[in-house]
Amino acid sequence: MLGASRIATDLIPYANAVGYSPEVCSYLTSDIGAYLKKVTPLSKAYEGIKSIPKPDVLVFNTNQCRDVQDWMRFYAKEFSVPLLGIYTYRNINEIEGIHVKSIAQQIENLIDPLEKISGNSFDKMELKKVLALSRKCSELWKKVLDTASASPSPLTFFDGSIQMGPAVVLRGTQQAVDYYNLLLSELKDRIKNKEGAVVDERFRIYWDGMPIWGRLRAHSELFASRKACVVASTYCNSWIFSDFNENDPFNSMAKAYTALFIVRADEAKEKYLKKMIEFFKVDGIIYHDSKSCSNNTNSRYGMPQRLEEETRLPSLVVNGDLNDLRCLSDEQFKTNIDAFIEQLEGSK
Ligand code: SF4
Repeated sequence: MLGASRIATDLIPYANAVGYSPEVCSYLTSDIGAYLKKVTPLSKAYEGIKSIPKPDVLVFNTNQCRDVQDWMRFYAKEFSVPLLGIYTYRNINEIEGIHVKSIAQQIENLIDPLEKISGNSFDKMELKKVLALSRKCSELWKKVLDTASASPSPLTFFDGSIQMGPAVVLRGTQQAVDYYNLLLSELKDRIKNKEGAVVDERFRIYWDGMPIWGRLRAHSELFASRKACVVASTYCNSWIFSDFNENDPFNSMAKAYTALFIVRADEAKEKYLKKMIEFFKVDGIIYHDSKSCSNNTNSRYGMPQRLEEETRLPSLVVNGDLNDLRCLSDEQFKTNIDAFIEQLEGSK
């Protein structure tokens, strides 16, 4: 929200001033900056919300990056509350039993301290219920994203970046399930009526990496004006947890969180991307080299070149950032996109 409402860039320096470098995650720096500056976009929508509410405990999982650990550590100190964490393997090619076992154990080990902090006993039936709802949400979210394989696609990556909200913050509730049932039926109607998200869709593009939140609308309009639909992304797919199984909660959670794209080695990522390219009938790939997130930037070690060689599909690397708009040149972005679209036109 800080990024999409374009206030992040001004808040980042406040976090830099207390020791968080401009090079680290700009979700972290803009959020901590907002806290220090006592602003939040939430108070515009909800009068009662003035700041981050005081937590009783903070829990992180390093599967996506170490930045989340540092981020939670800041608030643990600020609010003097306990900090618990799960430390996961990174750069995994094939997921093996040892990965799952160790992470499942770490998740289970949270029960004891959480019981003490909350004063409540662990309720396995409740966990199973939440996990079953989480899987339903994940399955529906996957079906929503998969509708973009239709030509023309009924939604874009930019729509997906907004629509993924319930899968991120309401996963495990009936509301999220209801939301995606409704959305899916609307998208199916659009497919039936051949209503594309981009009028006269001509090019289909895959977006790898983080969105540039402060430019969602501008980028959505730019691509649409070139008759290009960004049909799919690794980012929106990050909230698909197909492995959840309420009958084996700890192992299945460990597996689901380890199977995520961001946790995997380049070899596994490339295999996945090739499947996506085929499924979504993509004409080209854009890699976002996000200045403050090396964890979700995949273009720095030769992946675009390797995939181009194998798939013969053109690709483009764009420089920018998820939240820090100082790292983006709008003119350069537009020029690069136009040249890329010309290239796609040439290869049609
Ligand atoms: S994966 Fe990237 S954007 Fe997400 S929290 Fe980690 S550093 Fe930030």
